[in-house]
Amino acid sequence: MATIQLRQIEKKFGEVYAVKPVDLTIDDGEFVVLLGPSGCGKTTTLRMIAGLETVSGGTITIGGQDVTHLRGRERDIAFVFQLFALYPHLSVYENIAFPLKSQNMPSAEVEQRVRTSARMLQIERLLPLRPGSLSGGDRQRVALARALVRRPAAFLMDEPLGALDAEFRETMRAEIKRLHLNQGATTIYVTHDQIEAMAMSDRVVVMSNAQVQQIGTPGEVYTNPANLFVARFIGSPGMNLVAGRYDGTHVMLPGDNRFAVPATWRAALDRTDLPDNEVVLGFRPEAAVFAPNGPLQAMVYADDMHGAYSMLHLSFSGTADQIVHTRAERGVSAPIGAPVRFDVQPDLIRFFNPRTEQAISR
Ligand code: ATP
Repeated sequence: MATIQLRQIEKKFGEVYAVKPVDLTIDDGEFVVLLGPSGCGKTTTLRMIAGLETVSGGTITIGGQDVTHLRGRERDIAFVFQLFALYPHLSVYENIAFPLKSQNMPSAEVEQRVRTSARMLQIERLLPLRPGSLSGGDRQRVALARALVRRPAAFLMDEPLGALDAEFRETMRAEIKRLHLNQGATTIYVTHDQIEAMAMSDRVVVMSNAQVQQIGTPGEVYTNPANLFVARFIGSPGMNLVAGRYDGTHVMLPGDNRFAVPATWRAALDRTDLPDNEVVLGFRPEAAVFAPNGPLQAMVYADDMHGAYSMLHLSFSGTADQIVHTRAERGVSAPIGAPVRFDVQPDLIRFFNPRTEQAISR
């Protein structure tokens, strides 16, 4: 297994950047997810690491070896795609054995490796069958076993669960994670699904517009998003972001709300070059605390029952603009149109500069 290092890796198609320069070190055994919306450059980044796409600049090393200009098959990696083509005329056993047989490995070792991989993915009973008779989930397990059997330095996976239905996705997500914990293989995994990224990764690389926006653990990108894009993209729904005006002690918010800025934030806001004193207040739904004398007042705009809790959509202005999402205890509901008061847990408050869109740090 191996460390993967990207130094100033970039890709241009003509004059247009698909990936702006990226610096990233993926530690030996680490599970890193490239996450972002469609077209942000995550697949191109993965394909450059795989050697399926040339780089326009920068270097890539795998296990200390500069592989920037090596072909894909000369790099010790296994690639798993969303729609993994299995050979329909071969049995599951033969499909898994295929990459080893093409290396002329002795058949006793091939057999031992195929059986070990199949055992890890719990598909031993499928070995004699043909892929055509398998469910989508089992086919993906076979595809993973075929990648695993090579024992490569790293696994690269591009939306491997994208084609599966929701239930299988969840099962396979857990299996890939277990497999990773057992194997400790360096893994880079591409997805546009932030829930998948948060659930599986050691670290997330959030991308948008051909650019890395933030690299951090799931906890870091959720709790301390680096900018407005990450704040909106991570979380379901994303962070509440309310534009207001800072007057030195309070932030004036829509609906005549006056929110006292915690003392711990004042120095940071005072030294930030805010455009016309405008600032964006950020807080997650679970940071809202309902209290009859809370400093913020809003109107219930909608109420979604989620089973374990309710998501109250609150409007500061009475219209669909300026909606914030708040999480209420199970069983708590409020009639649509009713006024509610709430506070925000001080340690979960964040501020952003609307001009630069960057988080303000304390
Ligand atoms: P998706 O999830 O939709 O695959 P992505 O984040 O993986 O999106 P990429 O596939 O890496 O995004 O594409 C990044 C940008 O590069 C897009 O604007 C895409 O249109 C462009 N692009 C990708 N491949 C090529 C190519 N061969 N020629 C020209 N432009 C390309």
